Amino acid sequence: MIRYHAAWVVPIEGEPIKDGWVTVDRGRIVALGRRAANDSTRGVELGDVAVMPGLVNAHTHLELSYLRDQIAPASSFTAWARQIIAERRKTHLLTDPAIPAGVDAAIEELLRCGTALVGEITNTLFMTFDKLAQSPLAGVVFWELIGFNLDADFDAMVTQALEDLGDLPATEKVRGSLAAHAPYSVAPLFFRAIKKAVNKMPFVPCSVHLAENVEEVELLTTGGGPWKALMQDIGSWNPEWTAPGVGPVKYLDDMGFIDDRLLVVHGVQTSKADLERLRSRGATLVTCPRSNGHTGAGLPPIVDFYESGVRIAIGTDSLASCPDLNVFAEIATLHALAPSVPATSLLESATIQGARALGFDADYGTIEPGKLARLLAVDVPPGTSDVEEYLVSGIHPGQIRWVES
Ligand SMILES: [Zn+2]
Repeated sequence: MIRYHAAWVVPIEGEPIKDGWVTVDRGRIVALGRRAANDSTRGVELGDVAVMPGLVNAHTHLELSYLRDQIAPASSFTAWARQIIAERRKTHLLTDPAIPAGVDAAIEELLRCGTALVGEITNTLFMTFDKLAQSPLAGVVFWELIGFNLDADFDAMVTQALEDLGDLPATEKVRGSLAAHAPYSVAPLFFRAIKKAVNKMPFVPCSVHLAENVEEVELLTTGGGPWKALMQDIGSWNPEWTAPGVGPVKYLDDMGFIDDRLLVVHGVQTSKADLERLRSRGATLVTCPRSNGHTGAGLPPIVDFYESGVRIAIGTDSLASCPDLNVFAEIATLHALAPSVPATSLLESATIQGARALGFDADYGTIEPGKLARLLAVDVPPGTSDVEEYLVSGIHPGQIRWVES
């Protein structure tokens, strides 16, 4: 058993503890508390640091890491998507060595930035699953399904995807599940088939990009606009499809897709009524504000997010739309854009909310007896009085160490 002493312990579950201690035994947290003035118990002195749970990056696409700094900021989301599609057509997803090299570098960066858990979207399945399973990271790898124009048997496609998941090497640390890409790229019957399959699995979450951009809202409400043009250009449009005439959140809710297993990624284009709908279903909204700024989607309504009471987690999104994989930088962006949102809430979003959404809250997300000791020691200036405010104001990787590695 090892006892660690730190200027601050930030358990997330409960108030920050000044002059705190945490004891760890064989990789698990045993107890925590505050050092009394007369407490002479020996411990490992970590000094002027805040000990806190490893962070959760609830939305990544590690296979896009090779596109770091390659995709220019766009004035509209479909303009950004056209750049991505053009770049990806230059490389072969399964054979280009730049892609696995990018994944390896991204995993190293996630660890340097204090990430314990990821919600990873994959288009190859095997590439990121194996690398994550062999790394210290844990999380969910979502096998992303796309199909809008197919007359295909969607049930058979989902069955095949489930078999692919079943073929993965068994590990409790990284779990496989399914994701639907987005309303403009997944046919209604495909959404239903994916939901049916996920509901039959033992608790695993599901993910969808939703209400990310105005073009998506235009497509669903009018049946036309830039998404239709893009889909026609790449041969993926389905002329049989009819617009539901409602916004993205109501569209998926009406087909029963939104529930407490779902990670709704982005939500830039959500009204207060949409947020209330997500809250009442128990879904988790994953916000990625730096990506939204880069892709031309625009800034998310962060204050509305937090005022609605919906569960909020945080993701960086891919390096094709974000400059780094540092969740602390994402938190700092949220804090700068919405200073009225309490620092406590932002820190919960980056830890326990993401862990809960991914189904890993029994082991991650807070410092509590019994949980894994995947803990960070973050350098803080001597005499820091408001440690939460400091942690949401921008932490760089050089300030971060793993308490036990
Ligand atoms: Zn994404």
